[in-house]
Amino acid sequence: MKIAVCPGSFDPVTKGHVDVIKRTAKMFDKVIVVVMANYHKPESAFTTEERVELIERCTRNFDNVEVDMYNGLLADYARQHGAVAVVKGLRAVSDFEYEFQQALTNKKLNPDLETVFVTASADYMFLSSSMVKQVCGFGGDITDFVPEEVKDDIVKRLKGKEARS
Ligand code: ADP
Repeated sequence: MKIAVCPGSFDPVTKGHVDVIKRTAKMFDKVIVVVMANYHKPESAFTTEERVELIERCTRNFDNVEVDMYNGLLADYARQHGAVAVVKGLRAVSDFEYEFQQALTNKKLNPDLETVFVTASADYMFLSSSMVKQVCGFGGDITDFVPEEVKDDIVKRLKGKEARS
């Protein structure tokens, strides 16, 4: 069985994330979405448990997708779970440098693990969790940015809050 992991901070999950997860689920037998702490973004709007629950709600209809959380090295997580690939979405050149560095580091730490990049869909090319936090914080409509199942909870948490990156 070919297992892929889709790691990220998902703070909160967006339509761009779900698009990548859905496309990964078509390519692999099983996908584990792993909610991880982001070293570069220590302050999160949602707790890890909340982020897991929001993703679970959006991926309920995909029967080969599981959601988990992990605080450690992705290379170790992948080894422990028998994953053969890390799948990441690439939005723009700006994502590339960081992702390339991560991919090479993971390869050093776990030579059996491949990193696969999927290009962001044109509709979600601009979309990030930070952007959702910013728009929602200032009272903007996030209907086009986050899945319907989680929209109300995200608005409840973020509306009127100062946007954090
Ligand atoms: P962010 O906080 O920037 O939204 P995450 O760390 O939660 O990012 O992202 C997890 C993964 O999802 C990363 O591989 C990221 O490149 C990818 N991703 C995030 N947003 C999109 C999008 N709109 N389209 C495609 N991939 C995306």
